[in-house]
Amino acid sequence: MKAFYITEPGKTEIKKIKEPEPQSDEILLKIKKVGLCGSDLNTFRGKNPLVSFPRIPCHEVAGEVIAIGKDVPAYIKTGMTTTVSPYTNCGKCPACRNKRPNACQFNQTLGVQRDGALKEYICVPWEKIYFSAKLSEEELTLVEPFSVGFHAVERGEITQKDTVAVLGCGSIGVGVIAAAVQKKAKVIAVDIDDNKLNLVKKIMPEVTTINSRLQNLHKILSDITNAGPDVIIEAIGLPITFRVAVEEVAFTGRVVYIGYAKDPTTYETKM
Ligand SMILES: [Zn+2]
Ligand SMILES: [Zn+2]
Repeated sequence: MKAFYITEPGKTEIKKIKEPEPQSDEILLKIKKVGLCGSDLNTFRGKNPLVSFPRIPCHEVAGEVIAIGKDVPAYIKTGMTTTVSPYTNCGKCPACRNKRPNACQFNQTLGVQRDGALKEYICVPWEKIYFSAKLSEEELTLVEPFSVGFHAVERGEITQKDTVAVLGCGSIGVGVIAAAVQKKAKVIAVDIDDNKLNLVKKIMPEVTTINSRLQNLHKILSDITNAGPDVIIEAIGLPITFRVAVEEVAFTGRVVYIGYAKDPTTYETKM
């Protein structure tokens, strides 16, 4: 089968590799669609610190069940279309023991610490697949990136009483905004790109949008909130927005950082 490799920063190659065979607890998927994540782009640019080369990218997946291991539950049938949780959890580290397997210390994400899904077939443990009769293949590839935003809103313990500012309206930020709107919070979306802000406004007209390149973020947040948002969720990954989140959130507010900043971040610790 064919597989797409990033062989080193800026270089790619399609190679022929052996088709995988499912272990007893695995299913074999034919890859139908993949999404390209910002982290895949960072891998291509040589800016993903978690990746070694050569690497097959992609962890946003829609696939069709082609073959099934002998210990897989009977409700899983060939022909089903599914997405995949691209993470592993060791079950032994402090995060896993604290019932937060998503934060496993030894996590291996598809396309990051191990080869990903940009190939014709992939084997995955049956516990890692999620079926939907409703979602299209394109929509299935969006489940993983959007679930990141939904998880961030859970971590921020957002309720309808909260005003939430979301820094960044990329695909992760849009997931955060959708999840916060679903919680009936008052949502403020911040970006420097009017195209992204307009898209948010078009899908979710109840959201207030701020272009922080053209408008004074601090002043507008002060004007439209009671001394700052209750929650700020950072979905950009820059030192400055890590700092802005802490500076602009209300006293005793909550800050959720989704990703990591690519450079070290310094804070003013006296308020
Ligand atoms: Zn991703
Ligand atoms: Zn673990």
